Amino acid sequence: VMGRVERLTDLLAEEELDVLLVTELVNVRYLTGYTGTNGIAVIGPRTRAFATDFRYVEQAAEQVHPSFARARASLDLLEAVSDLLPPGSVSLGFDDANMAVREHARLRELLPGRVELVPAGGLVERVRAVKDAEEVGHIRTAAKLADAAFERIIRDGLIGRTEREVAVALEHDMRERGARRPSFDSIVAAGGHGALPHAQPRDVPIRSGDLVVIDWGAELDGYCSDCTRTVAAGEPREDAREVYELVLSAQLAGLKDVRPGRPGREVDAVAREVIEAGGHGEHFGHGLGHGVGLAVHESPRLSQRSEDVLAPGNVVTVEPGVYLPGRLGVRIEDLVLVTEDGHDVLNGLSKRLLTTD
Ligand code: ZN
Ligand code: ZN
Repeated sequence: VMGRVERLTDLLAEEELDVLLVTELVNVRYLTGYTGTNGIAVIGPRTRAFATDFRYVEQAAEQVHPSFARARASLDLLEAVSDLLPPGSVSLGFDDANMAVREHARLRELLPGRVELVPAGGLVERVRAVKDAEEVGHIRTAAKLADAAFERIIRDGLIGRTEREVAVALEHDMRERGARRPSFDSIVAAGGHGALPHAQPRDVPIRSGDLVVIDWGAELDGYCSDCTRTVAAGEPREDAREVYELVLSAQLAGLKDVRPGRPGREVDAVAREVIEAGGHGEHFGHGLGHGVGLAVHESPRLSQRSEDVLAPGNVVTVEPGVYLPGRLGVRIEDLVLVTEDGHDVLNGLSKRLLTTD
C-alpha cells in the first residue's frame, strides 16, 4: 500500500495538487485496502485520511492500512471531507471522471472558501496501471484458475449443450475452484452469434460445425483475469479455419510487439495490419486490448485512439477478432504482463484451433 500511495503523491506533485479526494471505490480499495461499499480517502504528501459510516467502522479497522487516520462519518461521506483536509489554502483534486455534477456542486457547498476544487480524474488509474509483484501474483493465479475451468468444460463437449448451459457450467466451475465470482458475464457464442463481440449466451444448442467464441475470466482476491478462445464444435468448415488462422497470426504479431516503450496505438496497428492484409480490416471493429487488474477494463489501452505507452508492470489483453455477420466470429485473447525486456503471457492455454465434440 505504501508504495502505491507514494507513487500517487509523486503524481500529485507533478499536477501541483496538495491533496486528492478519492471517491471511486476500486481506487479507495487499491490505496487503503478497504473493500466495503461506502468509503473515501484524502491523500497528500503529509495526509492519509479515510472515512466511512458506522456500518463499516469495524471492517475499516481491520482493512485500512495503519498509515491512514480513520474517521467515522455520516452516511453522506462528502460531509466529512473538510475535516480530513490539511490547514491553510488547499488545492484539492477530485475525480471528475467518476463524480456526478450534483455531487460536485454539493462538495463545493460543503467546503470552506480556502479550498480550491481541481478536476483530477484518472490519477489513481495511472498508478493502478503499473502492477506490483503481489498484484501480478493474484492476476496470474486467477488466470490459471480460469484456464483449468475452461479445460474441464471443453472435456465435457459442446455439441448439443446450449450456450447458456456452457456459460453457467464454466462460472460454476470457477467458483468451485475458489473464484469469488466471474470477473464479467461469460460470453459463449456459437456460429453466427459469435459475430457479436459482446454476445449474451442464448438458450440455443451448439451445433456441429459451429465455431464457438468463449470469453471468460475469474475474480480472485479482487483481481480479474480475462481470456478468449474460439473452439470448433465438430469439424470446422474451410472458411472458418482460414479466418481462425488469420486472427491467430494477428494475435501472435500483436503479442510479439508487447514490450516497454511501445505506444498502445502502434501495438494495435501491428495486429490490425495483419487482419487488413487478410482482407478483413472492416470486420475487426474493436481495440486490440485493455489493461486488467482490480477492474476488468482499465488502463492502459491498446487501440487506434490510445495515448498510452506500455511500461513494465502493465497487464494487458491482446485480443484481435474477425466478425462475419450472420456467419461466424473468431477472437483469441491472452492476458499479458509487460516485463522489463518484453512480456510474459499469464494464461497458459494452447492457441491451436481446438476441435471438440
Ligand atoms: Zn475477454
Ligand atoms: Zn478483454
